[in-house]
Amino acid sequence: MDQSEKLFAAARRVIPGGVNSPVRAFKSVGRTPLYIKEAKGSRITDVEGRSYIDFVGSWGPMILGHAHDEVIEAIRETMDKGTSFGAPTELETQLAEKIIKMVPSIEMVRMVNSGTEATMSAIRLARGFTNRDKIIKFDGCYHGHGDSFLVKAGSGAMTLGEPDSPGIPKSITSNTLSAEFNNLDSVKALFDKNPQDIAAVIVEPIAGNMGVIPPAADFLMGLRNICTKHGSVLIFDEVMTGFRVHPGGAQSLYAVDADLTTFGKIIGGGLPVGAYGGKGEIMAKMAPQGPIYQAGTLSGNPLAMVAGIKTLEIIERPGFYESLNMKATRFFTKAQAFIAENKLPLSVNFINSMGCLFFHKSKIENYRNALKCDTEKYSKYFNDMLQEGIYLAPSQYEAMFISAAHTDEELEQTFGAMKNVLLDKEFLE
Ligand code: PMP
Repeated sequence: MDQSEKLFAAARRVIPGGVNSPVRAFKSVGRTPLYIKEAKGSRITDVEGRSYIDFVGSWGPMILGHAHDEVIEAIRETMDKGTSFGAPTELETQLAEKIIKMVPSIEMVRMVNSGTEATMSAIRLARGFTNRDKIIKFDGCYHGHGDSFLVKAGSGAMTLGEPDSPGIPKSITSNTLSAEFNNLDSVKALFDKNPQDIAAVIVEPIAGNMGVIPPAADFLMGLRNICTKHGSVLIFDEVMTGFRVHPGGAQSLYAVDADLTTFGKIIGGGLPVGAYGGKGEIMAKMAPQGPIYQAGTLSGNPLAMVAGIKTLEIIERPGFYESLNMKATRFFTKAQAFIAENKLPLSVNFINSMGCLFFHKSKIENYRNALKCDTEKYSKYFNDMLQEGIYLAPSQYEAMFISAAHTDEELEQTFGAMKNVLLDKEFLE
């Protein structure tokens, strides 16, 4: 038993499944998780002292790489003055101002502590604002673990939601309708059936929780138009894509304005943060300005605020995205060319620094296609890559994140490892 296995065994005695978030348990890749000792830049080191090139990046936040000197210094300076006051600080306004400046559709923003909290609050706001109950989400999109969002809708795009987890009342998920990503007709059909009842459409503008799936041309603009026509609130869940694919989020990349947007991950610079924001007219309905209630003991925590401010300050510097995106595009297009040349039954989707290698040969455009992936082959690929010193997400349906800290040499090394691993006959058709 190595050190990670020992620690995992101890954890399982006191924490359900040994982890505080299920995917960390590595169940779908058939092994126990690595216990992490430390991380710096692009590298993560386990308790055995083995160092890996990390493409999980704490599931997205670490766009600068781990333990960035300036971010750590800002946290340290702030920490010395106290870690939480439960009273306003100037840092909250500074982070809000930064987000508003960078994301054109945002006029006001409220800080919370996680992406889940942001999405739960955003739909409460949308419901309170429109005085309607139903929401539309998309099969395969993830918006955190709030009751309303855990709907599998596995039996097709138009069905009423069945709870995806025990413990969620059907009375809640019956207000969740699920449509097919990249299929505007499936959305129109739900509006036709419920013309006066849809409070909001919530979507990951680039789906990042069923692998990475870009929006088809006009999909997001189509959602915008449908929501405007019906007086429904369009919510872009940019917890993953916000400040990842563009300084103004996916909505800037595709030039479509959302009414509300949710954030998390990068805006906390590696500390626990979420936020939701949008049009002033809607945000003004939140307490104490308006009647819709939402609160948090640790919301706007100074350490989290300063980590976010510093992170956004760094990514705003000239050339940051150009350099990151160029490096990532080179890597992912090389992988695509390699797959094509060798006629491997795989495909790669990517948008700037987030991408996914699917173990399925056709293009993946929605949840139905994504479910066709060979997850057993992904599991072997994951384990073989780990042997090569590359730490990927322990699930086929997660993104691979490239950070500013990954060097060209490391990406070349990773590509070399991919080639070695994928030319194994088990991966050939
Ligand atoms: N929305 C999206 C798009 C996400 O990717 C995630 C987390 N992966 C969440 C919401 C939930 O965020 P958190 O895990 O911080 O609650």
